[in-house]
Amino acid sequence: MPEVQLVLRSTRVVTPEGVRAAAVFVAGGEIEAVLPYEAEVPVGARLVDVGGDVVMPGLVDTHVHVNDPGRTEWEGFWTATRAAAAGGVTTLLDMPLNSLPPTTTVGNLRVKQGVARSKAHVDVGFWGGALPGNVKDLRPLYEAGVFGFKCFLSPSGVEEFPELDQEQLARSMAEIAGLGGLLIVHAEDPHHLAEAPQRSGGRYADFLASRPRDAENAAIAHLIAQARRLGARVHVLHLSSADALPLIAAAKREGVGVSVESCPHFLTLTAEEVPDGATEFKCCPPIREAVNRDALWAGLADGTIDCVVSDHSPCTMDLKTGDFASAWGGISSLQLGLPAMWTEARRRGHSLEDVVRWMSAGPAALAGLSRKGAIEAGRDADFVVLAPEESFTVDPAGLQHRNQVTAYAGKTLHGVVRSTWLRGTRIVADGVIAEPTGRLLERNH
Ligand SMILES: [Zn+2]
Repeated sequence: MPEVQLVLRSTRVVTPEGVRAAAVFVAGGEIEAVLPYEAEVPVGARLVDVGGDVVMPGLVDTHVHVNDPGRTEWEGFWTATRAAAAGGVTTLLDMPLNSLPPTTTVGNLRVKQGVARSKAHVDVGFWGGALPGNVKDLRPLYEAGVFGFKCFLSPSGVEEFPELDQEQLARSMAEIAGLGGLLIVHAEDPHHLAEAPQRSGGRYADFLASRPRDAENAAIAHLIAQARRLGARVHVLHLSSADALPLIAAAKREGVGVSVESCPHFLTLTAEEVPDGATEFKCCPPIREAVNRDALWAGLADGTIDCVVSDHSPCTMDLKTGDFASAWGGISSLQLGLPAMWTEARRRGHSLEDVVRWMSAGPAALAGLSRKGAIEAGRDADFVVLAPEESFTVDPAGLQHRNQVTAYAGKTLHGVVRSTWLRGTRIVADGVIAEPTGRLLERNH
């Protein structure tokens, strides 16, 4: 057995059994034991006592568009993983689209892994893509280590990643169910979108009307029906419409294999506050009204929503024109998800344990990352040390993202990341980021 190299100690450690004073013993990059605060420090081990700062498991962000290679002017593995580390995210899963090539064949996966390998400051894994006509590629991709497959039901925004029609969805879903895999879905119904009023220009109300709740509700209803019929496991990405929550809750009660995520922007921002022309707030589905946000929080509180992940989907400044119809849809928040969520959670009476469940344990369970997501023996020693009572004002210039476009500019947020640890090594200390030591993750490894 490797010797204990590190003892990380705090009066507030977030464990699966609650928040308590504890000493976390780390050996060989893994948590060996979580012992009482006073436990004797083994000879040769380094003691780091963070006092009253909170020690939490590193965040697991299963929804990140890194765009590398191919659209690296939007983002890249170097910048994305630095932003992740600075924001307390120690594991990220890359979405299969917006990079060129997309992750839709084993060859393309190898290209992406090759690019990521030397640049990963945190651990990185990959989702595969389900496209019209690539059913034969799904099994090889799964065996090559992707964590599941993403598809769209409406246009994705990039031509190399077309959506599935209903028949193609059924075929891909059946194949993935046969593998025991997970299908993750951008669920907006194309017919409802086509019927919605489409107006260009800078008015946010027009954009919101062009992506109605019904488009999400209808797509989710169809998805649940197909999952029930095929005995498949499906996951609803970036839920915005709270109207769909009762449907999802009922399907879960019935035993249908469905889970759902939402995102910090849907839970912390509102349509009412988006200035006209401010396309840094544009994403699809869109940020909706305050009353919808409150209903999403109720879905988090009652456990209908399984996890909260960033859907970090950046672009260059020039693509964020003042026209909501033509601007790129995507919100950058990889580095800010934790403080954004914590700020709103504490205001609503939630605890850091809740935040850990939504942003670390939940996403780890979704992706089957059994070594991540909790501070307990046998897991990787991935931590974020947080000063939850401290606040800061978001200055875009201080972000590690490749492009400093953010919907959170000027907001005052609670929760300052003091340090981030990956397998027992401190990778961020007071904003200074170490050289890359992240690993490429594959399913079941
Ligand atoms: Zn996305």
